[in-house]
Amino acid sequence: MTSAEEIKSKLDIVDVIQEYVPLKAAGINFKANCPFHNEKSPSFMVSRQRQSWHCFGCGEGGDIFTFIEKQEGLEFREALRLLATKAGVQIKTESPQVRSERETIARCFASSVQYWKTQLIENSQAEPALKYVKEKRNINDESIKNWHLGFALNSWDGLVNYLASVGFKEDIMIKAGVAVKKSAASGRGVYDRFRNRIMFPLSNAHGQVVGATGRVMPGSDEEAKYVNTPESVMYHKGKILYGLDKAKQAIREQDLVVLVEGNVDVITSHQMGIKNVVAASGTALTTEQVALIKRYATRVAFAFDQDTAGQKATTRGILEALSGGLDVLIIELPKNKDGEFFKDPDECIQENPELWKIAVEQAKPLFEYYFEKAKQEKDLDKLENKRALVNTVVPILARVNDLVARSHHIKQLGELVGVPEEQLRHMLENQNIQKKMTYEVVKPERERKMPVSVVGQVSENLIAGLFAAPEYMNYVLDTVEVDMLDPAWQPLYKVMVVDYTENHATNGDKWRTDTFQQRLAEEPQATQLTELYDIVLFRSEQDFINKDSAEVRADLYATAKRLKKIHLQKQVKELERQIRDAEKAVPRNTQQLDELMRTFQQVSGELHKLDV
Ligand SMILES: [Zn+2]
Repeated sequence: MTSAEEIKSKLDIVDVIQEYVPLKAAGINFKANCPFHNEKSPSFMVSRQRQSWHCFGCGEGGDIFTFIEKQEGLEFREALRLLATKAGVQIKTESPQVRSERETIARCFASSVQYWKTQLIENSQAEPALKYVKEKRNINDESIKNWHLGFALNSWDGLVNYLASVGFKEDIMIKAGVAVKKSAASGRGVYDRFRNRIMFPLSNAHGQVVGATGRVMPGSDEEAKYVNTPESVMYHKGKILYGLDKAKQAIREQDLVVLVEGNVDVITSHQMGIKNVVAASGTALTTEQVALIKRYATRVAFAFDQDTAGQKATTRGILEALSGGLDVLIIELPKNKDGEFFKDPDECIQENPELWKIAVEQAKPLFEYYFEKAKQEKDLDKLENKRALVNTVVPILARVNDLVARSHHIKQLGELVGVPEEQLRHMLENQNIQKKMTYEVVKPERERKMPVSVVGQVSENLIAGLFAAPEYMNYVLDTVEVDMLDPAWQPLYKVMVVDYTENHATNGDKWRTDTFQQRLAEEPQATQLTELYDIVLFRSEQDFINKDSAEVRADLYATAKRLKKIHLQKQVKELERQIRDAEKAVPRNTQQLDELMRTFQQVSGELHKLDV
């Protein structure tokens, strides 16, 4: 058995995909909204029986490996490695030469993280940093270890010297984002990107470190409080949620992501047992991060930051989350002993962890939060307060895709400010026009891999119908010639016809489908044929599973007829063109014209018969 086969035998594709996409049972298969294109109703199907997946929206499909490759943006060998770890399968190690550069970069980065970790714990230079982390931020030893916290020495070459000593080349250090090339004036070589900073490594959803944020030491005169690794082959800022690798289990259990701003907020929350907390890591929530959240939950709770910059980022994030179809909740930070709002979750946790716990439990649905707050704090008889509330809420309402919810909140808003619903709806429409112009262009729908023609679609339906009702093979064979099908489907149909013709004598008229897959595997174009076969089985299971035999028969007959009709119509058009040309020809070829007319009458007669 190859490593790939061993992995496949140990992992169930449904479990693996479930980690990324919430799957719902649909007949004998599972379905979900496709993670690879934008869609509102699910056309992404997974089969446990065949250990395969297919999307009818964008045409992508394959096995457990192709799913991971696409989902994680990996090459096959990397996907193999990731799944091997999951399955507990040992892969033979290759020599370093054959490893891709990408893997070398990843190893270089992991070595850097290891180096920073060691410095924080063991180097006396790091003492103030360790003291700050433990005493000021109350991060305990276990968290320091689990979150891979580290320290970058106040040195220009501490890390690069170390990396060179274990065999990494300078260009790899630069590509990993941990070293910077010296300017021409200061000579050759590279220097450390991070100096005198507390390092917070960033992991992807699988816990692989891919980037880092360096926080300046308190009291340092450095300008930038936070410095991030630049974008690299592994690290894409907008695609990382800090803490997701550790939070995903709790997120799935509670169907809720708590989104905070700072990395330390995440660590201290986890430390006190609230584990569904992540941070967007220095950005307003991005489209990619929303997609990431949707793999695990349908609800996101924003912990409102009290400073205005934070609020702006939060508002942008809320719009993004709503556009992505997530339910949004708001966590209001409690007040401290002096009656002022805590400025972030960590401050609250430091003073009274219990208060943060309660705040999370009391997260309110977004609009409920806005309306209650307005009622409590503002005199809504005053024009400016009404206007402010309407101006805040309407742009947000415009992003709510659920029409029932939207209409519900418009009504609430209307009652609250005493403005007729009609007028609010009008404002909302204007918002939607703006949204279309500014927003939706950024997120184009993905095209299907191959543009699907009508003939392509009908051919697919015909073959799918045959798998659902093999007893009608005989009728279909009489009606549909191979060349009536879309060229993409002809090879599979041909094998079906041959298979049936060879076996029907011994099996009566019924086509036996159970041995068909085996037969396909022996064909010269086995891979391509098996892929087509997989697609039609998904189609068949989706379209026919709930139909009784009479309905399937009716469908199949109609589809076969339709295919024949399309074919005949095409012929009629072509003959008309040829006749026109023949009539114009000088000298006229009467014999050819007669023949064309005869064929034309015969074909259009057949076409006519189909309509009665
Ligand atoms: Zn798709």
